[in-house]
Amino acid sequence: MKILVINCGSSSLKYQLIDMENENVLAKGLCERIGIEGSKLTHKPAGKDVLEKAEAMPDHQVAVKLVLDALQDATYGVISNVNEISAIGHRVLHAGKYYSDSIIVNEDVKRVIRECFDLGPLHNPANLIGIEACEAAMPGIPNVAVFDTAFHQTMPEKAYMYAIPYEYYEKYSIRRYGFHGTSHRFVSKRTIEVAKLDPNNSKVIVCHLGNGGSISAVVNGKCVDTSMGLTPLEGLIMGTRSGDLDPAVVQYIANKEGKDVNEVINILNKKSGILGISGISSDFRDVQKAQKEGNHRANVAIDAFVYRVAKYIGAYAAAMNGVDAITFTAGVGENDAAIRKEVCSYLGYLGVTVNEEANKIRGEEVEISAADSKVKVFAIPTNEELAIARETRDLI
Ligand code: AMP
Repeated sequence: MKILVINCGSSSLKYQLIDMENENVLAKGLCERIGIEGSKLTHKPAGKDVLEKAEAMPDHQVAVKLVLDALQDATYGVISNVNEISAIGHRVLHAGKYYSDSIIVNEDVKRVIRECFDLGPLHNPANLIGIEACEAAMPGIPNVAVFDTAFHQTMPEKAYMYAIPYEYYEKYSIRRYGFHGTSHRFVSKRTIEVAKLDPNNSKVIVCHLGNGGSISAVVNGKCVDTSMGLTPLEGLIMGTRSGDLDPAVVQYIANKEGKDVNEVINILNKKSGILGISGISSDFRDVQKAQKEGNHRANVAIDAFVYRVAKYIGAYAAAMNGVDAITFTAGVGENDAAIRKEVCSYLGYLGVTVNEEANKIRGEEVEISAADSKVKVFAIPTNEELAIARETRDLI
């Protein structure tokens, strides 16, 4: 069985074709600048040369057609017919309060994705366009929506309610939703397996630390809290996002700089975080290089990032009244031994001790806690595309 995984942005489309017999990626690629001048397809078939094709893509429908052509191409292709694709799994940002699991797309599902346009204004419209483009190009092949918010729907009210007038929750569904759910689901499940925990008696904290970052608290495989909120802006300090701050800061900047709320929120999303404090880059590697060279702001940025992660781990250990395992994942979590070590240096009170040699390993599944550690600590690579493919297979 072959599953096509699609992740549509407003002007991009990422894809992977995965053979579910062995979970190998047959081909992956990216359409860039859809609807803008200079569109380009980059197609990477396994074991073959890369195909780069500059071709006009006025909309996602054309992009999907180009992807299907590339997948069936005589030289760069990996299938001979689209009917070899059993289903298409779509990453969809927001399902509001409606879905706590992935679901086969029908008219109702599309209505919900549309209803959540306000909650995910940049992603949900693009996600729906991607689904409709696939329906048009591959009639009869099922589409599955895998939502970023779904895993977090098990959060109790006390975790998801904002302490604002209740009418705003009732009228506008303003509450915490959380994101990166596919990754948190995949990595928490894997943590329970590798730590050999009892799935029905387990407390896990997953630290998804990439360019975007979020932490979740998972009891018996179910999410009970997570650091992102109504939007991905809440929580950790991220590459370019501020994470938690006093909302009055928005008003203050707006008044001082003569900007409106939308402009300030844009600054908090795109120009803040590690980039904002350091003034150097949103990429941890650049900031760490500057830190080593003695740059004070780079040092503060990394220190503040680590401190916020450690505070959330403490909060979630308290929320769950204990923790059995903590797992680092995503770009920074999988690769950055220094950040992992720094975070763990705050966790002595939990009985965490680190195996320095194991912690040097990058990009692999590894236990980084020492044998005497009271809480097991892991680095586990996330694989959102594979998780989407598995959920799609399970549903069809
Ligand atoms: P992601 O969003 O999961 O792709 O993560 C992207 C971030 O991971 C980048 O901004 C980098 O700062 C970080 N990253 C990737 N590889 C490494 C590495 N080898 N060492 C440290 N940080 C890394």
